[in-house]
Amino acid sequence: MSGFFHNDIRVSKLPLQEIIDEIREEVGPFLSQGKVADYIPELGRVKPEQFGMAVTLLNGQTFETGQSRDNFSIQSISKVFALTIAFAEWGDQLWLKVGREPSGNPFNSLVQLEHEAGKPRNPFINAGALVVADSIVSRFSEPTDMIIDFMHEISGNSGLEMDSNVFDSEKEHGHRNAALAHFMKSYGNMESEVNEVLNFYFGHCSVRMNCFDLAHAFLYLANHGKHPLTAKVYLAASQAKRINSLMLTCGTYDAAGDFAFRVGLPGKSGVGGGIAAIIPGCMSIGVWSPGLDKHGNSLAGIKALELFTTKTEISIF
Ligand code: GLN
Repeated sequence: MSGFFHNDIRVSKLPLQEIIDEIREEVGPFLSQGKVADYIPELGRVKPEQFGMAVTLLNGQTFETGQSRDNFSIQSISKVFALTIAFAEWGDQLWLKVGREPSGNPFNSLVQLEHEAGKPRNPFINAGALVVADSIVSRFSEPTDMIIDFMHEISGNSGLEMDSNVFDSEKEHGHRNAALAHFMKSYGNMESEVNEVLNFYFGHCSVRMNCFDLAHAFLYLANHGKHPLTAKVYLAASQAKRINSLMLTCGTYDAAGDFAFRVGLPGKSGVGGGIAAIIPGCMSIGVWSPGLDKHGNSLAGIKALELFTTKTEISIF
């Protein structure tokens, strides 16, 4: 299927390597401005002044700059993979348990949940991702193996694994996520045992990838649900559209409006400093810099994406 932006000639004329090398230079001054996430102590040990970026076209051609092969904790980026599995399995029934509106609140906020009777605003805030996790845990017998296998398949890297130090660190300090899960259980919006759901959720958040892996892993979303390199279909085109829409409106939490304004692409961030973004019918991008802004999004990562869509003049708008 040819996509909205499918324009090989235009993209092939872009000096992508030069552009991303230039971006690496230009984000230099921003690398020290962010702050690493230390509410998960293990993530607090990462050096903030690091940067990598990878851009993968639908034919697999990849352009990389900086530390594009250094692994980092993907954290909330993994919520996109969990949502893909849950949406493919449950279809529109999923929306009975979780909404599709931006929250306007931080990713780990509890306040909205009581007003809205335990139904989280969207699948990317932690409460929503826990409901998605529950929908997977309640359906599959080996959910963790399944989601890791899925990540192996879409990234093309069978070496990806969970980071047990990050997993333990997050579990030990995960009182807020535990509170969210228990609270939703009290409203009847959580079928499985809270502990099982948390283990699955912390597990997929703790997986390590690099920018190269990430750019490959998001290709199916840049290609209407079908992986362009393996031809495997993970989602119907209309479902891929919906996940991309959610990334645009909710993928960077209470900063999603500003992200859309500056970058103009669907993207999903994680507190490990990674961001994945896609240009439908065209390419996917993985960027990483561990220093975060006050919303928990990579400060230099957003800057890099903003520079990328400005310099290439391609975005979804
Ligand atoms: N695992 C993290 C948490 O639950 C994910 C948050 C994030 O990356 N925004 O707090």
